Amino acid sequence: MSGHKLRVGFVGLGIMGQPMAGNILRAGFSLTVYNRTISRTEPLKDAGAVVVDSPAKAAAESDIVICCVSDSPDVYHVVLAEKTGIISGVRKGSIVVDCSTAAPEVATKCSQELGKKGVSFLDAPVSGGDAGAKAGMLSIMVGGRKEDFDRARPVLETMGKTIVHCGSSGAGYIVKLCNQILVSMNCLAVAEALSFAQKAGIDSKAMLQAVSGGAAGSWQLSNLGPKMVADDYAPGFFVDYLLKDLCITHGAAQDLKVPLPGTALAETLFRAASAQSFGREGTQAIYKVVRGLQRQQVS
Ligand code: NAP
Repeated sequence: MSGHKLRVGFVGLGIMGQPMAGNILRAGFSLTVYNRTISRTEPLKDAGAVVVDSPAKAAAESDIVICCVSDSPDVYHVVLAEKTGIISGVRKGSIVVDCSTAAPEVATKCSQELGKKGVSFLDAPVSGGDAGAKAGMLSIMVGGRKEDFDRARPVLETMGKTIVHCGSSGAGYIVKLCNQILVSMNCLAVAEALSFAQKAGIDSKAMLQAVSGGAAGSWQLSNLGPKMVADDYAPGFFVDYLLKDLCITHGAAQDLKVPLPGTALAETLFRAASAQSFGREGTQAIYKVVRGLQRQQVS
C-alpha cells in the first residue's frame, strides 16, 4: 500500500471536500466519491472519479478513506452508521482519515470502533480556507499512529503543503482548536481595526495596505480584510461553522480547566453574528456586528 497504488475514497464534497478530492484525482490516485447531495459529485465524475451511493461503498473500494463533513455528529454518521457508514464497507488494513473539524472524543470513539475491524483512524483537520483547498496548499494537522501518518502522507501531500504529525489520536483535532482560537480572535481584531479606521475617517484600503506587511500582518488581515472593506460576505468559511468550532473549544477548555478569555469574547460576538442571520455568510461578517456596536453608541 504505497504511492499511486493507493486507492482513495472521499466522503463529503462541500466547499472544502470538493477541491481537496479534485487535487487527489489530479495527482493520479484512483478516486471513489460519495456525497449526500448527489449533484455535487458531478464535477468529479466528469474528471474521472467513480461515484457511489454510500460511504460504505466508497470505503469498500479504497485503501484510504477521507471524510470532510460538517460537525462531530456528521462524522459519527458517515463513519459509524450501521450498513451505510464507512465502517460497514472498509477492509482490514485500511486507514480512515477525517479532515472535518470535530471534537477530540470523536477520535477516541472512531479509533476504538474501527480498531475492532483492524482499521486505523487519523484525525486530520485542515486550515487554509477554500482558497488553500483549491491550491492544494492546506495546513493539515494530524493525530494518530505515526506509521499510519506515514502511509497516508502521499495522499495528504496532494491536498496540503504543511503536514504535521501532532501526536496520538485526537491531537490533530486539538491543534485545530488552537488554530480556531487564533483565527477567531484575529478575525475579530481585523474587524475592530477596520471599524476604528472608518470612524476616524481613514481610507480603509490604505490602512490595510500600510499594516499588512508589518507586525500585524496575517492571513485573516490579507484575505478577509479586503472582503470586509468591499462588503463581500460570500462564504469561504461559514460563521456557523466557526461558532461550532468555538463551542467545541469551549467544551474542551472546560474539561481541561483552562480559561480562554479572548476566545470567550470572540464566541459571544460570532454568536451575535449568527443571531443576526449571518450564520451562512463568511466569518468576515463579524465586521457587521462590530460596526453595529459603533453605530449604537450614545455620543
Ligand atoms: P460544507 O460546504 O457545508 O460541506 C459539508 C459537507 O459535509 C457536504 O458535502 C455535506 O453534504 C456533508 N455532510 C454534512 N453532514 C452530513 C451527514 N450527516 N451525512 C453525510 N454528509 C454530510 O462545509 P465545508 O466548508 O466544506 O467544511 C467541511 C469541514 O471542514 C467542517 O468541519 C469545517 O469546519 C471544516 N473546515 C472548513 C473550512 C472552510 O474554510 N470552509 C476550513 C477549514 C476547515 P451535502 O452536500 O449533502 O450538504
